[in-house]
Amino acid sequence: MNKIEQLTQANTAFLTKDLNPAQQEAVTLPVEGHALILAGAGSGKTKVLTHRIAWLILHHNIAPSAICSVTFTNKAANEMKTRLHTLMQQELPGLWCGTFHGINHRFLRIHYEHAKLSKTFQIMDSDDQLSLIRRIMRDLQIDPKINPPKTAANFINSHKDQGLRAYTLSAQNNWEALQLEVYHRYELLCNQSNLVDFAEILLRSYEALKENLELLKQYQGRFSHLLIDEFQDTNTLQYKWIKLLNGTLGNTFIVGDDDQSIYGWRGAKIENIQSFNKEFSKYKPVTEVCLEQNYRSTKPILSCANQLIAKNEDRLGKNLWTNIEGGEAVKIYAAVNGHNEADFVIKEIEHALENNMPGNHIAILYRSNAQSRLFEESLLKNKIPYTIYGGVRFFERAEIKDLLAYLRLVINPDDNAAFLRIINTPPRGIGNKTLETITQIANDEEVSYWQSAQKIKHPSLEKFIALITQWQKEIQKKEVEQQLDYLYKQSELISHYEKESKEKAEIREENIQELIIAAREYEDGNELISHAILEAGEQPVKTNHQAHECVQLMTLHSSKGLEFPLVFMVGMEDGLFPTTRSLDAEHKITEERRLAYVGMTRAREQLFLTFAGYRQLYGNQFSSFPVSRFIRDLPEEYIEIVEI
Ligand code: ATP
Ligand code: MG
Repeated sequence: MNKIEQLTQANTAFLTKDLNPAQQEAVTLPVEGHALILAGAGSGKTKVLTHRIAWLILHHNIAPSAICSVTFTNKAANEMKTRLHTLMQQELPGLWCGTFHGINHRFLRIHYEHAKLSKTFQIMDSDDQLSLIRRIMRDLQIDPKINPPKTAANFINSHKDQGLRAYTLSAQNNWEALQLEVYHRYELLCNQSNLVDFAEILLRSYEALKENLELLKQYQGRFSHLLIDEFQDTNTLQYKWIKLLNGTLGNTFIVGDDDQSIYGWRGAKIENIQSFNKEFSKYKPVTEVCLEQNYRSTKPILSCANQLIAKNEDRLGKNLWTNIEGGEAVKIYAAVNGHNEADFVIKEIEHALENNMPGNHIAILYRSNAQSRLFEESLLKNKIPYTIYGGVRFFERAEIKDLLAYLRLVINPDDNAAFLRIINTPPRGIGNKTLETITQIANDEEVSYWQSAQKIKHPSLEKFIALITQWQKEIQKKEVEQQLDYLYKQSELISHYEKESKEKAEIREENIQELIIAAREYEDGNELISHAILEAGEQPVKTNHQAHECVQLMTLHSSKGLEFPLVFMVGMEDGLFPTTRSLDAEHKITEERRLAYVGMTRAREQLFLTFAGYRQLYGNQFSSFPVSRFIRDLPEEYIEIVEI
């Protein structure tokens, strides 16, 4: 090694010095070529990916703007940005790091013309999507009781996730014909309204790249390095997007774990891992690296997780071990009922807090959002601060969506979803009949509801149109927070809420004020609205405590990639977890088992599994489920039954 080489190495030694040989190999792979890092939970995949980015920049002088790094949740993306910042001690201008949605949304805002959108296009969340579909079904005289709008939404989304537009499909039976008719009409309406749903964000970007050779070349030239975390959960379209963007010259670095694939129900294709080597090695060599040492969990926790996942067939197979000595057995608690389960968990949490464990080192994980209520009540009663991810989230509250819909309509009057939301909120005497005439004209003339409404003689409607038009002018020179404040007052939402319920109106008022304050951080209305929709699913409900004090409550799905010293997996019952609807098919149980594996491997020091003899679900209905098969499968020597 010459002196210059030594110097370069000294500069970057800190990036590899704490890594094991396999991790080092992955981080320091040649700059040209693809890599597949297939490894078990807690083996440092995300760490390796972050260090690889730093290595490319520092050792190979790759510009940050030539790197695009994709992870699955906003939380994980933020975590990655923070880690990179800590590693590099500086900002990385031009680096794209985010979720598939986030990155492609950014792309669409820049290249809206290539994507055949207008500049003010809006994103629509799943609620908006459902109301639009409901409206379409009413127009087509489809009975929602026989053909639920939700099924139609799934039909549309799952086809978009595969990159399939309505015009590319042909119906094989009456049911498909009907779904397809809705899909066609839906696409038409979205285009007229300048609206994109979640799946559309990626599909639009993909098509924009595919259909504009110049643009594609520009991006293929720009991003020489594409890095993907949690690759096992990519769906067909995401995989196509990676291949397209990578082209023949790019370098792709993917990390994943087939045992943690938990989005099969949403179209994730585990086969993507299996075909990666074959497809990508056409242009450049693919190096596979296995990481086998787990740095996260103690032996009892890891042994339980390993034995559980071993029950699944068709695994790529990994041998995961840990050096972390000792550790307590995995504790199992059989509660009498749901209340008793919550009390037990909260007592254990109090105990940990007394021993100076910070609140955010503790997580309660459950299969579905509805399970959080009992734990919330008990935490409140005991005055323990907590943050809950999911449930009715801030940006999903009715008042927030109402006010944002006003902003949306003022910015983009063709936004049909926003139009539907506020046309009669507060009530202004525009009834269903008028609305039907509006949609009728919109359908016949292929225009937006807003444009159609202009053609109707109706005093209340005319007044509404005049107001919106006036507000458009009024808000032009205002900052986003002033725009919101103005619209809130002008729209008379306050008195509307007060009429509905005096008590609730107070909370609504508080939330609106919070939104207005939050708006200060945004450049313009578009940015705020997009953020509200894209991050809605992960925005914690606001609490008045410091983040590190709060116990973390979330579903097993959203715990992916995270780690906590103390973890409670609750509701471990056959019928809750695995869910009743998964019990009829082996492949569904297999996916539930992977979810259990994800949950268990979040724990670093202590893991509790709890279940209840009976519980009250969905109102007053009593249910009694047997203990989960995932508990029955655990090795005796590493578990301990808690007696109290
Ligand atoms: P998951 O499959 O859950 O996403 P992962 O494989 O991405 O896990 P990381 O989150 O990167 O794993 O790492 C797990 C933990 O182990 C982290 O706390 C990380 O800092 C630590 N870790 C990883 N590698 C090492 C190492 N070589 N030395 C010390 N700690 C390590
Ligand atoms: Mg990870």
